[in-house]
Amino acid sequence: MLAATDRVFPENATSATDGRIEWDWAKSLWYFTHLVGAVAAITLFPRWDAAAAMVGLTAITICGGHSVGMHRLLIHRSFAAPLWLERLLVWLGTLVGMAGPFGMIHAHDMRDWHQRQVECPPHPSHGAGFWRDAWWQLHCRFALIAPPRFVIEDPVARDPFYRFLERTWMAQQLPVAALLWAFGGWAWVLWGISLRIVLSLTGHWAVGHFAHKTGHQGWHVAGLPVQGYNLPWLSLITFGESWHGNHHAFPHSARLGVEAGQLDPGFWLIRAMQAMGLAHRVRLPDSEPHRDGLQRVPPVVEISVPTPRPA
Ligand SMILES: [Zn+2]
Ligand SMILES: [Zn+2]
Repeated sequence: MLAATDRVFPENATSATDGRIEWDWAKSLWYFTHLVGAVAAITLFPRWDAAAAMVGLTAITICGGHSVGMHRLLIHRSFAAPLWLERLLVWLGTLVGMAGPFGMIHAHDMRDWHQRQVECPPHPSHGAGFWRDAWWQLHCRFALIAPPRFVIEDPVARDPFYRFLERTWMAQQLPVAALLWAFGGWAWVLWGISLRIVLSLTGHWAVGHFAHKTGHQGWHVAGLPVQGYNLPWLSLITFGESWHGNHHAFPHSARLGVEAGQLDPGFWLIRAMQAMGLAHRVRLPDSEPHRDGLQRVPPVVEISVPTPRPA
């Protein structure tokens, strides 16, 4: 019997490996449309003010929205927040342009479930090489012949605001585009919407690709076909999400940069919200019993050999 996770329930016929990779035309068209917009932004409007608007909006949507709102709060419930704030953060996460809230939960949890089985197919494990994996993740989906039952918990599944976001996630760019247009015309719209979406989607794929291949590891989860790795040099621009090895070790933890010196801007935001009384029940690695098979990877000790003096 296949192992279940919180939202994924295998049935008798379920197979985690029998499936095919299918071209997802809607996903592909969305990406290519914004790629055209991104090229237009750089070639027709090479402007610093538009670039600054894009960087600012990327930081807000990736840090507050994707990392803290969608991933650490909605998906993992690694802390609690008032509903109005949770909805605001999830809306910011929808603006990243990847999927609506239910689509994000499904994509994350199915990948997580696949990576916990005895065998993980090459799509959900990022097992392919660079270009093939880019094509698979940005333009295709992995369709199981007999998928497990997928159930999103009631308060979230019935939330009218999340249902609205799920139906309209692409159109959620429109009010932001109108605001950008009012401030900086088409230059700000193309930089702030299209180029930002292309960078966010491509960056998200690239971090996922390399974080399942190789890198620094503080812990190893024995018995699983796929391991996560830390990419320390990306910690600031991913707002802490690149501590992916730590996330595999402690998926419930709001803090991803769990060791001394590991920069984690998303967690700084959660701490700031906590100081303002807006975040509570913040979970850390030791808030839950360690997951089965968790093993500390001994740190690599570098020994410096003194250069011999000339005789
Ligand atoms: Zn992973
Ligand atoms: Zn996760």
